[in-house]
Amino acid sequence: MSEGAAKKEEKPRKFQAIRGTRDLLPPETALWNRVEQTAHEVFATFGFGEIRLPIFEPTELFARAVGSETDIVSKEMYTFEDHDLHELNLRRSRSITDIELFTEPTSVGIILPYAKHFLTEAKQELTAGKLPRTPSNEFLLARIESDLDYLATLTDATPRDAFRDRCSELRRNMQALELGPVISLRPEATASVCRAYIEHNMQQLPQPVKLYYLGPMFRRERPQKGRYRQFYQIGAEVLGGSDAPAIDAEVIEMVMMFFDRLELQGVQLEINSIGCRDCRPKYVELLRAALLKVKDKLGPDSQRRIETNPLRVLDSKLESEQGIIARLPRIADHLCEDCATHYAAVKHQLEMRGVIYRENWRLVRGLDYYMRTTFEITAKGLGSQNAVCGGGRYDGLVELLGGPPTKGIGFAIGEDRLILSLQESGKAPAQQGRDVYIAWMGERAHATAIRAAKDLRKAGFSVELPPVEQKFGKALGQADKLGAKYALILGDNEVSEGLWTLKTLADGSQAKYTEPDLLAHLRKSL
Ligand code: ATP
Ligand code: MG
Repeated sequence: MSEGAAKKEEKPRKFQAIRGTRDLLPPETALWNRVEQTAHEVFATFGFGEIRLPIFEPTELFARAVGSETDIVSKEMYTFEDHDLHELNLRRSRSITDIELFTEPTSVGIILPYAKHFLTEAKQELTAGKLPRTPSNEFLLARIESDLDYLATLTDATPRDAFRDRCSELRRNMQALELGPVISLRPEATASVCRAYIEHNMQQLPQPVKLYYLGPMFRRERPQKGRYRQFYQIGAEVLGGSDAPAIDAEVIEMVMMFFDRLELQGVQLEINSIGCRDCRPKYVELLRAALLKVKDKLGPDSQRRIETNPLRVLDSKLESEQGIIARLPRIADHLCEDCATHYAAVKHQLEMRGVIYRENWRLVRGLDYYMRTTFEITAKGLGSQNAVCGGGRYDGLVELLGGPPTKGIGFAIGEDRLILSLQESGKAPAQQGRDVYIAWMGERAHATAIRAAKDLRKAGFSVELPPVEQKFGKALGQADKLGAKYALILGDNEVSEGLWTLKTLADGSQAKYTEPDLLAHLRKSL
């Protein structure tokens, strides 16, 4: 094939949004805006202020806050090393490839020079402060140096295995070197809000501090209806002050009021208390012991969780496990006195606010930081991914992240699912058409049309002004397709008479107006 022919074959790649991400398009985005606007309004009436957070943070923040045994942290985060040591990184990759490729002691002469070069540069970058001067990096550099010294002493008589062992150690040490901070796209935002609370000394503000946020979150989950890899949350947190049950109840009341304002259908609130640092560990042990007794009857996921996170077994949706779970000890029977009192008071406070709830002793939530009050809200039309909001109390979290002892409670709403449910139940607003389509013909009319469009837009109307002249018939067809309410007809006659024709597209009626009368008429009727 000639070069020319090969080029012809090569079609430009067609790009698509990555699996689990998607574009939100008009008119749907109008609904997203309405939802977000409602959040701003409702949350403001409860005294919450908006916080805007970074999309990425140190991985360590999420590992500590969310918990390293959770699905989110153990397998769902988008994590990468954030460094600008491009050259060093390339040299490392090249060195590692060499080590993997040349596995005979006689090849040491190929491996060594490049690896030594890497070491020299890495040391320079460490001195320059570009390579993080962490104890681990300092230790690894020393190890690499001694690996290289050893390899340099090799003779042809060195046994192959000794050579290979040392080479794999060298490779591991090189790989473990952290060229920059390890960061992750945020899988949730509570950890960031707590980080910000500490960083900006918000404990010095009047307590509690009430914050809300909205924006995208990232989790590498299996994409399906209502579950995406980039999804959106609207959340709120109350930090500091007391852990008065009225705070728990008011936060829940606020979400319910928000859903109510949006006319979300089939809203169901479930609540539970999962105890505190004192009583929960004891219950978890009890649960673990009970689970061990029925271990062979459980599926592999639950079997694993007996060790890592027994509470999560309660969350299981596996049909075969339901009967077993129903007979497990329940946390409500094992709460300490303080937690039991707190839980009872939260329920009472909800009743005082007319918030209807259902208790669900199996509601544990997937994040480690929760304690005492936990809640989840489901809505209609979502299939098995029907949770639109999850939340709870997390009194120890700020302290865990290095801040002062601080009470905390909050929730996160899944905005994608919320929108889905509104659409399924027909609560999405109809597409917003144009108010006025300007059908103009002739150069003189074009100048008038431009001026008219400017004035109408200033008055707040949505106006479509065709960029090139159209026959009136075509213009009216176009106006119809765009769902315009009126067509403003401007031809030479209209311009010279100073009387503009306005056609109501719904009934085809038309009337003539002077310019000021037209504006007044539109103001009245739109
Ligand atoms: P689920 O059990 O449905 O996976 P979760 O316990 O992981 O939810 P949280 O981390 O508490 O959820 O997040 C709060 C809300 O965010 C959920 O109730 C849900 O509406 C939404 N959400 C969570 N993960 C996703 C996702 N991958 N795609 C879309 N929405 C999500
Ligand atoms: Mg989840």
